[in-house]
Amino acid sequence: MEILKGIPVSPGVYIGEAFLQHSEEVRIPHQFVEPEQVEAELRRFEDATRQVIEDIDKIRKQTEDQLGNSLGAILMVQTQLLKDESLRQKIIEKIRNERYSAEHAVATTLKIIAKRLAGLGDQMLAHRDSDIYDLQKRLLKVLVGAQHGGVGHLDKPVALIAHDLGPSQTASLDRTKVKAFAIDVGGRTSHTAILARAFEMPAVVGLESISTDISGGETIIIDGNRGIVILRPDERTLARYRKLQQEFQTFEQTLIKEKDLPAVTSDGREIRVHANIEFPDEVNSAVTHGAAGVGLFRTEFLYLTSGIMPDENVHFEAYQSCITRLGGRPLVIRSLDLGADKVISTHAFHERNPFLGLRSIRVSMKYPETFRTQVRAILRASALGKVRLMLPMITAIEELRWAKRIIDETKQELKRENQPFDAKIEVGIMIEVPSAALRATDLAKEADFFSIGTNDLTQYTLAVDRGNELVANLYSAANPAVLDLIFLTIEAARVAKIPVSMCGEMAGDPIFTSLLLGLGLTEISISPPSIPEIKKIIRNVSYEKCKQIAAHVRTLTDTPAILDYLRGRLGEDLPGGEKFGAV
Ligand code: PEP
Ligand code: MG
Repeated sequence: MEILKGIPVSPGVYIGEAFLQHSEEVRIPHQFVEPEQVEAELRRFEDATRQVIEDIDKIRKQTEDQLGNSLGAILMVQTQLLKDESLRQKIIEKIRNERYSAEHAVATTLKIIAKRLAGLGDQMLAHRDSDIYDLQKRLLKVLVGAQHGGVGHLDKPVALIAHDLGPSQTASLDRTKVKAFAIDVGGRTSHTAILARAFEMPAVVGLESISTDISGGETIIIDGNRGIVILRPDERTLARYRKLQQEFQTFEQTLIKEKDLPAVTSDGREIRVHANIEFPDEVNSAVTHGAAGVGLFRTEFLYLTSGIMPDENVHFEAYQSCITRLGGRPLVIRSLDLGADKVISTHAFHERNPFLGLRSIRVSMKYPETFRTQVRAILRASALGKVRLMLPMITAIEELRWAKRIIDETKQELKRENQPFDAKIEVGIMIEVPSAALRATDLAKEADFFSIGTNDLTQYTLAVDRGNELVANLYSAANPAVLDLIFLTIEAARVAKIPVSMCGEMAGDPIFTSLLLGLGLTEISISPPSIPEIKKIIRNVSYEKCKQIAAHVRTLTDTPAILDYLRGRLGEDLPGGEKFGAV
């Protein structure tokens, strides 16, 4: 038996057979062709291109029918790449001028492009990188006539294990057979992770070596709640997980039935539980899981999936779509948080430390026109429903002042144009950098609300990259230094009488619910599938007890002691819930 720890990206427990997808290295039959074969080779390339475009379009339509336009747009990027004239010409030139075989021309050209992107050192191009490799695989399969890696021919349910899964591969998985997946690479914001959540398929990513640790066919447990994968489990573990799986399913069914019950503690304190979304379509999932609104719309996914800067109307339509689906519930739109690991091809700076570099509000300040465009759309959308505007990664008050000035100027512009908007739209900030938490008192005087982004706050406080498996053991929002900053933020908001929420992953982790309530939070924003569970915990605790828990935690001085204590409390807060945390 072997236990691997990765990044949980989609909840649920799978027990069953592992199916290993090999890296699908396609053997290229020959590199060069005779001069008289060149025209035929060009035709082969054109035919393969047409077929791949048709294949992708088919998958895209299926995806759009099932999940909506935004997710289908992920695949649109690949079709656009394939139709890109300069890319096609590069391949054609290699066949015509250097007499490359179509396979060799495709493989070399796309590899060079992918490597160049990687060489820019810009982590956000990793998304485009995997699109290119995915496309390369598709073209080569058609050209070489290779079988589809076996996944298309499954005859029983399996968990798919692979080094990586490209977005089009994930979207085209036969979900009657592929019930879960676990891969070596990836992170929470990768296209693959987004699709896994949309499919509600248990998934763990970032396992480093799972594709080389198994040979396929063995029994595997994938625990998408905890990011645990167990290879060749022994009888005792299997029995434990079977029971856990059954209890988890029953528990989930009960939770879903209760999703619309209010999130009010046993002594009457009401907590607003909102949803984090990346696409307008996800509002449906937010509502069906019982969200009171959307507390974080990560708008950068509008850029990341289309590969082009959206114009004002693309922004506006996305926001309008959210507002319509929300049916009167509030919506917090965060301005673009590009940079670091979330990048697009036009942002091609080489940065040695991208998480400490040109990221988020800094990108907006460098490209104010892009920010103005988005602000115009947000303001116009504010005439249609309850909309708030949130600024990410504020590190100093000047940044907030700059953004507010642009927002004011944009309001004047819209006024001159007689365009309706909410003149009193609230402008809030994310507290996700220690400098902001330390200066929260000043910031609270000028921001209309706070939302604590613990994903970044933890990494910036502890100097631990949130995406680096090598230091993952050091990354914990339960570190007393992080908790101090959270406390400072909540206190500053309370004194200034402004609302404070938390939208980092910490807020969706059942272990922390009592603590966060005890620290004074009355609003959180979490991923839609976590909502029913967290709401149930809230109903099972009293605010008085949460305050005692928080007071006790603040006397503890090390992370393991804090985690142990909170884990112990979870059993009481969520009857049965401790079983899902105790792996
Ligand atoms: C955070 O940092 O906690 C957050 C919610 O923002 P993101 O995960 O998009 O960086
Ligand atoms: Mg963040």
